[in-house]
Amino acid sequence: MRKLAILTSGGDAPAMNACIRAVVRCGEEFGFKVVGVINGYQGLIEENFKPLELKDVDGIITQSGTILKTSRCDDFMTEKGFNRAVQNAKKQNFECLIVLGGDGSLKGAERLQKAGINTIGIPCTIDNDIKSTDLTIGFSTAVNTVMGLLGNIRDTSSSHGRICVVQVMGRASGELAFNAGMASGAELILVPEVKTSENEIIDKVQKSIGVGEKSVIVVVAEGFGTAKDVASKIKEKIGIEAKDVDLGYVQRGGLPVAEDRILATKMGITAVSMANAGESGVAVCYKNGKMRGVPLPQATKKRTAIDTETFKINNIISV
Ligand code: ADP
Repeated sequence: MRKLAILTSGGDAPAMNACIRAVVRCGEEFGFKVVGVINGYQGLIEENFKPLELKDVDGIITQSGTILKTSRCDDFMTEKGFNRAVQNAKKQNFECLIVLGGDGSLKGAERLQKAGINTIGIPCTIDNDIKSTDLTIGFSTAVNTVMGLLGNIRDTSSSHGRICVVQVMGRASGELAFNAGMASGAELILVPEVKTSENEIIDKVQKSIGVGEKSVIVVVAEGFGTAKDVASKIKEKIGIEAKDVDLGYVQRGGLPVAEDRILATKMGITAVSMANAGESGVAVCYKNGKMRGVPLPQATKKRTAIDTETFKINNIISV
């Protein structure tokens, strides 16, 4: 029987489960036996496999996280570990392995493809930092989660007339901070893609205080720096207390929003359709409203720019 494998790797992202569901259901439709690899690449090394049936994915479209578990796998980066993973995948005779994860996991998929394992990647990360796709699975939910948390912070900051500096995840990418900050009317957003000097930060905060704002929210992408440093600079230069908050891991969870569930389902269906047609060595990417397969070496490239013009104007109009 034709066998299709699926694993989730690296940082988890909301709606990974919706994608697993689509792969299992679509796989069954095309006549594949679908096998889940547990715990990412570690499961390939340890031969931790679980057959996935329709009942296993019942109801998971609503759940965050991943029923297959995920890991950052150092063993896979060693020659011995990698060779074992390849050997085990070959032994199982998978027609194709579908890898859900961020750019690191997609690089792993690229290596497996080169070693003779047919692989298809699906970009999943709350960072939305993969250049060849307009959206990654999990990003939209994270934007909504951060927007909700910024709303809570706004409620209390308004009551006290406070300045609050909030640190948002995203590794080297400012996409999450930019989009969630923009959706929340944050007075200032700081991202690694756009240089903002200390003087510019102070000027903008002073300007916002000057127009009689009840509260000032500064959103800092982790790739720009820490909320703590920005808050202490504001206190030092303006003389007003600024509260610093690191939103931390809560940004990873939360019910997947409709946009993510739909994207995850479409990407899952596209990946299985491609596998069924004998395609591999690609990642499923969403560009200009269409799904397409992008060769893995290209699909692992990081997005390094944001929409700078909108970013700058948004920072000017948000006082
Ligand atoms: P993400 O997929 O979320 O970006 P990581 O960067 O931690 O997360 O990658 C997840 C796993 O993918 C790593 O633990 C490792 O096993 C594998 N991986 C990462 N980078 C590479 C690489 N350059 N080559 C092969 N495998 C990689």
